[in-house]
Amino acid sequence: VTVPAPESRPPLAALPALLAGLPRAEYARLRPDLEVVQLTLKEVLYEAGDAIEHVYFPIDSLISLLTVLAAGAIETGLVGREGMAGLSIFLRAPGADRRAVCQHPGSAVRLPAGAFLAAVEQGGALASRLLPYTGTLLRTAAQIAACNRLHTAEQRSARWLLMVADRVGAGPLPMTQQFMSEMLGVRRASVADVLGTLEQAGLIKNGYGTVTLLSRTGLEAAACECYMTICEAA
Ligand SMILES: [Zn+2]
Repeated sequence: VTVPAPESRPPLAALPALLAGLPRAEYARLRPDLEVVQLTLKEVLYEAGDAIEHVYFPIDSLISLLTVLAAGAIETGLVGREGMAGLSIFLRAPGADRRAVCQHPGSAVRLPAGAFLAAVEQGGALASRLLPYTGTLLRTAAQIAACNRLHTAEQRSARWLLMVADRVGAGPLPMTQQFMSEMLGVRRASVADVLGTLEQAGLIKNGYGTVTLLSRTGLEAAACECYMTICEAA
């Protein structure tokens, strides 16, 4: 995490969804503790079990939540400007429930855990917003778990590219086959095949380490129903 220097209080227009439009008094209490930080690609914010020192509200970055097994890690949640990483602390868990990794570099608003807990214990608008958001993340994790088991690599890749683009734009998205393979739990050779198929169909453009979405409707047709189910859960 890079903490830019003093101008780092977030401008109101850039606030992520959970912080935007809070009651004036509540925002005024939070503001001295909010800082804008730059997240770099693949930066690990927490490992499962880590004490959470800060919560993160992405502005134009994207944070991937990964469930870690001995056999490897797989993505079971995504946090963009609609959400917050570090939700375990809201649930009063002793540590992070999953690994959190920056999947798309960019800025985020960061808040120290103590200031965050003090704010939500006062029971204001932020706490009220976090309850339905917790439900959204739970439903999304359940959907992704089922998706990973039952849907094809092509369906899952299309679903995932749409979810990423919804949060950070259509690209070019910095993306290697290795990274996509890790996020989706798909063999790297399968990722290469799938990206080739989607490109031939005119749905994406593969660059050097980037993917650009060309047809949202085409990708929606290629994705499994999980994409719409996850959108509706939000
Ligand atoms: Zn699916």
